Amino acid sequence: MNHEDVWQTVLGDIELQISRPNFLTWLKNSQFLGKDEKDTGVALVGLPNNFAKEWVKSRYHKIILGSLRNIDGSIKNIDYVVVGANAKNPIAISVKKPKADNDVRPQSELIETRIDPKTNLNPRYDFKTFIVGSSNEMAYAAAQAVVKDVGKKYNPLFVYGGVGLGKTHLIQSIGNEIILAYKNQVSVLYVSSEKFINDVVQALRNKRMDDVKRKYRDIDVLIIDDIQFIGGKTATEQEFFYTFNTLYENNKQIIISSDRPPSAIPTLEERLRSRFEGGMIVDVVYPDYETRLAILKTKAKETGAVLDEKIMEQIAARVQKNIRELEGVLNKVVFYEQYKSGQIDNKKLEEIINEAVQVAPRNITPNDIVKTVAEFFEVPTADMTQRSRKQEVVEPRQIAMYLMREVLKMSYPHIGDRLGKRDHTTAIHACDKISKEISQNPGLNQKILLIKERLYKL
Ligand code: ADP
Ligand code: MG
Repeated sequence: MNHEDVWQTVLGDIELQISRPNFLTWLKNSQFLGKDEKDTGVALVGLPNNFAKEWVKSRYHKIILGSLRNIDGSIKNIDYVVVGANAKNPIAISVKKPKADNDVRPQSELIETRIDPKTNLNPRYDFKTFIVGSSNEMAYAAAQAVVKDVGKKYNPLFVYGGVGLGKTHLIQSIGNEIILAYKNQVSVLYVSSEKFINDVVQALRNKRMDDVKRKYRDIDVLIIDDIQFIGGKTATEQEFFYTFNTLYENNKQIIISSDRPPSAIPTLEERLRSRFEGGMIVDVVYPDYETRLAILKTKAKETGAVLDEKIMEQIAARVQKNIRELEGVLNKVVFYEQYKSGQIDNKKLEEIINEAVQVAPRNITPNDIVKTVAEFFEVPTADMTQRSRKQEVVEPRQIAMYLMREVLKMSYPHIGDRLGKRDHTTAIHACDKISKEISQNPGLNQKILLIKERLYKL
């Protein structure tokens, strides 16, 4: 048998044992690459990307190994190799021992190279590139005031609002501007709340709490992004509270962002909440059409691209809820026009916009979500909707909760009820956890995109 015949036989076996969508998702671009050079009984199986590799390895290894051994008894184990989706002639690929898994670098590395290690600030964010409109003018004014009167006027400054509405941009701009205005005489530190939590957890583990105290209490301006994640983690919240007090009492400036106001972070300790409420609270909301158009024009200029006015108007009209998405669409259109050396047509523009705003078809039900997620993870639907504590349904259930919130905008109590009669705090926790992890874990993001794709096809 040649490699292709071997693999067809194996796929035939697997196809009988897993669902059709899963089969297509995970094994469509798989291939058998033969046995390893040293003939140690290791078979090499090629997959299009790291994500598929991990998935197939953890889910289908047993079936594949069994099936391969039926064909060739000398096979004892399998190495899964990433070969890319379009490897033309799989069999001709050299079958040297694959490199270690961790060769794949996280994408974020690319972005982080420009960040100043002393302040953690990204120089990309400054006031000059921040477009002000009715959606953010209060927040902008407060930010300006903080630069003028560091530690005095608005302390803490608490900025809240939905995803992609410019919170990180704004609070980092304050930091960058302070460094500039005070010629490095004022020390600034920007951290995500994850980073803060990590630092505290590590320090507790290594008994080096003094380091953390020094790091966070010896500065003039502390900027903490996405504070909602700190709530409920006792040790970190405790430490944050002390840090907050120390800085505050010494007239140091504290700047905080969150996806919701302090009063709506259910897990936040009362004393911390009242501290936040004692400062200045401002929100950023969805930008109006004029602001969106102005942002698009600025971003286009930044990238040096020349876009037709009509096209920018169309994008600004359709992409309403998230400035990051607005930028994403712009980048795609610019890329497309450069690639085609010509103006984008309406059909393609629609396609790009639709992809970004992900309009959910009206008829998706909570049940569809449960079924699609259950099938994706190959767990029984009943385990998701009942009070099962089985480990393998924890993640699927959290993802289902997240999707009910994101796609169907269901209320937290309702979501909790649908998925195992849990209370609303469990649902809030799940949704927060998933939305936080999506940005850090490309694997999770990928899973959710695949699930959504199936959901929208129903
Ligand atoms: P958030 O932290 O609220 O999720 P970000 O600050 O990361 O949002 O903003 C998302 C993207 O949109 C960033 O690239 C940011 O530069 C851009 N952006 C947001 N608001 C504005 C604005 N008012 N003017 C220019 N760009 C903006
Ligand atoms: Mg942010």
